[in-house]
Amino acid sequence: MKIIPLPAFTDNYIWLLHDGQQALVVDPGDAQPVFEALSKLGLQLAAILVTHHHPDHTGGVAALRDATGAQVFGPVGETMPEPLTRLQAPDAAKCLGLRFEVIDVPGHTAGHIAYFCPEVDGAPLLFCGDTLFSAGCGRLFEGTPAQMLASLDQLAALPDNTRICCTHEYTLSNLKFALAVDPANADLALYNAHAQALRAQDLPTLPSNLLLERQINPFLRSREPALIASARAFDASAQDEVSVFAALRQWKNQF
Ligand code: ZN
Ligand code: FE
Repeated sequence: MKIIPLPAFTDNYIWLLHDGQQALVVDPGDAQPVFEALSKLGLQLAAILVTHHHPDHTGGVAALRDATGAQVFGPVGETMPEPLTRLQAPDAAKCLGLRFEVIDVPGHTAGHIAYFCPEVDGAPLLFCGDTLFSAGCGRLFEGTPAQMLASLDQLAALPDNTRICCTHEYTLSNLKFALAVDPANADLALYNAHAQALRAQDLPTLPSNLLLERQINPFLRSREPALIASARAFDASAQDEVSVFAALRQWKNQF
């Protein structure tokens, strides 16, 4: 299996997974880069996985489905380009001979889902849309901080070697914030240098992996003393774990 991030718009990735013949794509906000990749690689599109309703994730779905007959999977609770197969935990999307387990991850949007495959060529694979980013997390457009924290906790409980395919190249700007709120974290400084070098060569910083994210992502580390202290410096009223998480997210919004 090959996993390829197709750049779209300014900072989106449309993930393409293929076995040399059949392909699936995740969150195709634009059909054009997908059509180009399919024709260049000689692939047939078998499935489209959608994580949430935002147009930068759904805009190309109808054109791709109409042209290829691909089966579309998406969340139960959101407005979607019909027709599609609607899923919620513990449903699974079966395609390319793989089984993608659905995880409900409300927060960025109310019905956001993620797709987890326990093994693709020896390691787990996660398509998490705009929930977990490398060194960051999605904005809370429709959900509460408590929901997003619970969603990230579910993702953080996946195996260390889970490859994390998120939908935006936000890593460097996320790292700026992470360094500000977690300045003594040596792993973070190392990863920042690595990510800077990748972006300087115009290479993606993704997929990330869960072991790394647990070490460097402030939104997976919001129960660590250093992050609690930073959150309280921003908002002294942040006492319990949800309000600490909320304070970090709010700070990032205005960073
Ligand atoms: Zn979104
Ligand atoms: Fe998005």
